[in-house]
Amino acid sequence: MTGDSSAESIFLHDAALERLPIPEREKRMDRKLQHLIKYACENAPGFKARLDRAGVKPGDIKTAVDLQKIPVLRKDDLIQLQKENPPFGGYLAVPLSEVDHVYQSPGPIYDPQRKIRSLPGGPDMGKGQIVMNAWSYHITPAGILVDNMLRGMGFTVFPAGIGNTELQIQVMHDLKVSGFVGTPSFLATLIKKAEETGYDFKKDFNLKFAIVTGEMGGEPLRKMFTEKYGIFCMGGDNYATADVGNISASCEKNAGMHVNTDCIVEIIDPVTGKVLPPGEVGEVVVTPFDEVYPLVRFGTGDLSMLVTDPCECGRTTPRLPKIMGRSGEAVRVRGMFVHPRQSDEVLGRFEEVAAYQLIVDRVENRDDMLLQVELSKEPGDKKAWEAALKKDFQGVCKVRFDRIEYVKPGMIDKTGKKIVDKRVY
Ligand SMILES: [Zn+2]
Repeated sequence: MTGDSSAESIFLHDAALERLPIPEREKRMDRKLQHLIKYACENAPGFKARLDRAGVKPGDIKTAVDLQKIPVLRKDDLIQLQKENPPFGGYLAVPLSEVDHVYQSPGPIYDPQRKIRSLPGGPDMGKGQIVMNAWSYHITPAGILVDNMLRGMGFTVFPAGIGNTELQIQVMHDLKVSGFVGTPSFLATLIKKAEETGYDFKKDFNLKFAIVTGEMGGEPLRKMFTEKYGIFCMGGDNYATADVGNISASCEKNAGMHVNTDCIVEIIDPVTGKVLPPGEVGEVVVTPFDEVYPLVRFGTGDLSMLVTDPCECGRTTPRLPKIMGRSGEAVRVRGMFVHPRQSDEVLGRFEEVAAYQLIVDRVENRDDMLLQVELSKEPGDKKAWEAALKKDFQGVCKVRFDRIEYVKPGMIDKTGKKIVDKRVY
């Protein structure tokens, strides 16, 4: 869909910048950052007040490393700021007349639309083709952002939104829709429904390509669309939030999500706030180069890490392998974060486990982790079973639990926390 025929993600852009040697890109990014900080200080009083409180002058921020001088802006801070100074908490840095759309994200937080990013492919790429946009057009930004992007590429858009499966199948059929944009699971639902209705999807429909994103782990479905239905799939996993927009997207090599070149991503220790080196898990903090809504150092609350090894695709930008959970739910044990999503993954592999809870405590100046388990049935070879559980747990969570305690059925509150932190700080 781009100039060449590779399955390049349309969410990746600024092709030249992405492939520059790292020092050269960082130099350019630092110049963008200096400009952003100066602009935001002059135009967003909320940001200026934050710098003043931290005793930081705009000239103090010369490189991405200097960002650490500015305290992280949390979602809760933004909710509070917007309450005190509605509607945008002093963070809107252009006149309202220059903002086309406003969105609401949970909090509530009101987000003015940022500028539309430039795209590869050129304006004639989609001429004469109808694309179905199955992102929501209500309240959240996805639908309209994708709509603008597609029209910018020359496509004609059918704004389908979400739901209404039968109607969408009819439209896809009648209009000879050639492209679909939405989640992989929704496209799978549409195809299944069409087949149940009696259609031969490959023969009766004109679907040639799909931009299926927005869900982690959509790869098996993308493979199925391509192999079984001949649908060219663009875009791997991508990561965006309503507040800061697109952050990262996977490349054609599927080796993690490359960070966009129009934002800076830092990974910080959620407890101390210190920036962590590549390879260590912490909270994703984003500084988008956005003059409309300059949320400098926005704490997403999501956990991930940066990978800086060279990628086979030739891009030199750092990657986020995946989002590993929310920082508020993760508990740090002997230096490693353990997230309930990780422990769920491990315990879910053992069918004999009816319920579990991890209890973290401090015993003789050492973090102690107890695994409480309720069994639905006794494992055949309990010793081997425990050894397998221990091995898998360490493999996924990168830290060992100290012992297992078997408790009577009903002792563990299944709606309660999976990881209980009893340490006193
Ligand atoms: Zn890559």
